[in-house]
Amino acid sequence: MANRQDSIKNRIRAVMVLACVIVLTATAAAFAIYEVSSFKGELTRHLSTIGAVIADNVRTPLSFENEENAEEILAALKAEPGMEASAVYDKEGNVFVFYPPSLQKDLLPTHPGSGSWIQDGSMISFVSVLQEGKTVGTLYLRVSLKAMYERLARYGTIVAVVLCGSIAGAFALSTVLQKRISGPILALSQAAQKVAERADYSIRAPKLTQDELGTLTDNFNQMLVETQEHHSRLTEQARLLDLSNDAIIVRETNDRIVYWNRGATEIYGWAKEEAVGKVKEELLKTEYPFPRAQVFETLNREGRWQGELVQTRKDGARIHVSTRWALDRGPDGKPANVLISDNDITEQKKAEEALRENEQRFRALGDNIPQLAWMTDPSGGIFWYNKRWYDYTGTTFEEMKGWGWSKVHQPNRLAAVTAKWKEHLKRGENWEDTFQLRGKDGQFRWFLSRAFPIRNSQGHIVRWFGTNTDITEQKMSEEQLERMVSERTLKLQDTIGELEAFSYSVSHDMRSPLRAMQGYAKALQEDYKVVLDETAQNYLQRIQNASNRLDLLIQDVLAYSKVAKGEIDLHRVDLDRLIGEILLSHPELQLPRAEVIVEKPLPAVLGHEAYLTQCVTNLLGNAAKFVRTGEIPRICIRAEELGQKVRVWFEDNGIGIDPAHFGRIFEIFGQVYGEKKFGGTGIGLAIVRKAVHRMNGEVGVESEVGQGSRFWIVLEKA
Ligand code: ADP
Repeated sequence: MANRQDSIKNRIRAVMVLACVIVLTATAAAFAIYEVSSFKGELTRHLSTIGAVIADNVRTPLSFENEENAEEILAALKAEPGMEASAVYDKEGNVFVFYPPSLQKDLLPTHPGSGSWIQDGSMISFVSVLQEGKTVGTLYLRVSLKAMYERLARYGTIVAVVLCGSIAGAFALSTVLQKRISGPILALSQAAQKVAERADYSIRAPKLTQDELGTLTDNFNQMLVETQEHHSRLTEQARLLDLSNDAIIVRETNDRIVYWNRGATEIYGWAKEEAVGKVKEELLKTEYPFPRAQVFETLNREGRWQGELVQTRKDGARIHVSTRWALDRGPDGKPANVLISDNDITEQKKAEEALRENEQRFRALGDNIPQLAWMTDPSGGIFWYNKRWYDYTGTTFEEMKGWGWSKVHQPNRLAAVTAKWKEHLKRGENWEDTFQLRGKDGQFRWFLSRAFPIRNSQGHIVRWFGTNTDITEQKMSEEQLERMVSERTLKLQDTIGELEAFSYSVSHDMRSPLRAMQGYAKALQEDYKVVLDETAQNYLQRIQNASNRLDLLIQDVLAYSKVAKGEIDLHRVDLDRLIGEILLSHPELQLPRAEVIVEKPLPAVLGHEAYLTQCVTNLLGNAAKFVRTGEIPRICIRAEELGQKVRVWFEDNGIGIDPAHFGRIFEIFGQVYGEKKFGGTGIGLAIVRKAVHRMNGEVGVESEVGQGSRFWIVLEKA
């Protein structure tokens, strides 16, 4: 480039200097030519004038052959500068006289000529000497041209000096001028060179002049501005393409790679510099799962193609890619580049493969389980049944797919089964139902059916897996069992009834001998008090206590038996009234012995007067009995409504009950402390439970040790 710069400078200089030399040389030459020709002309004219004068003067001496006279006339020529030789020839052509006398005669022309010419640096001129029109002799003159040559030499020197000066001036001038002319060009050229070397489009050429070169610089800079914008747009686009996780590759029609983004490096391992310029299929060892020609045929026809390929990474690993190709045509419509976007789907492929294998294993398993099995899509459409389904129903997949299974259901149950199944599908909850399915023999069998949703890693249901287990045999044995149980229960109830009747009559019958024992014991005590010692009286007292207790026991057993046996009719019973009467007839439930608060009004219930009296008496009796020594029992009776039912609470301030005993206390003889501490038979709560159950009610308790007890009974509202 430096040479080129030099050459521009030098050329400008050379042109100026050359122009100067040519002009000066031409001018000098013109002057020289003019000088020579005018000198010659003058000399010729001068010679002819002198010749004419001399010829005129020598005519007479020549005619008279007066040599002396003729020599004198010739001697007059000595005043003529540059006169080298002169001679007069007679009419025979012999030298008559010559001048200067020192001249060697041999050097004179042997014969006279005519006219004038230049020869050997001298001008030679022959002038005829005429007398009355006849040539009587010839005058010969030879004048040296030395003066002329000297003048020319002087000219030459002057021209050379002027030329040198001019060249120096032109050189200096050209140096100044070239700066003005070549400066902007060089600045432009340097800017262009920097741009080319550094690819830096922000460089601008300085504008040094306002002339055409200035305009050229402006245009060049404008071009750079546009190129810079274009370049930054391209850089931005390339940066964006680099951001893509997909491999983006551009290949030319000859399969050479011209663009390779960061995603391509990540997927394939080769850096951009390694990949660009390589043949793509060779670099990636592309394996087409179908004829390669098909791909290019589609690409040429439709301008795009997409599919899956196997390629090899730099580290030698084979990977599956999902690829999209788009053909870019040139302005002439011919295929130019192919833009390729690849996505690594190796993991996905492996997962799919694993899934397929799993599914195959699963289906093999599904075909071999004893149940009928099936799978549905998330909306419940069945897409797979196991072999046993087809074996049992004798159907085909075409008949059964989607919701086709309804064809083998019992029509009267189908709506309910479908509604329940749809509800579970919607909620995504495990499903279970029991229904009959028709076999290929037309017979229905019972199946316990279950299905559960299978979810993906995001928790979305991807399918449902269901089974139908044949429970016909169980169902039949269950029914048989139920039948047997109810038969036996009936028998048992009969037996219990008989037993209850028996125990009632036994208890009833036991009371009269017991009363006899009590009566006689009392008589002994009263009538023989004086004869009986203290020990005998003590024994007698024990007999009396035992018989009293036995009486109590018999009464309770009788009460229980009464409650347990026979049919009862339920009526409206006013609890306010009932409880009021009970309290009145039991002084131990009145102040100061006890305090009973009734939160009135209590509702009327559907019950049995006697049973209810028994229940309330027992509950209040217990509440008043199980208190800490010296403490006055405080009992609260209140009711709460439970829809069509009523719960009546009996809350006391007694010793409370450990919840561990809640189950036991309602059994016969279910005492917690034994009879000694608080007395009682352990039958009271059993009677309450029996009676409440017989009135279609419930009984229960809430309590903690030391916190009082809250017994409740629930009965229907009247
Ligand atoms: P008992 O004849 O002993 O009262 P019950 O069948 O009436 O027999 O009661 C069974 C047991 O339940 C009682 O022995 C007692 O331990 C417990 N019990 C019943 N009512 C109460 C109560 N209100 N407070 C504390 N314990 C009670």
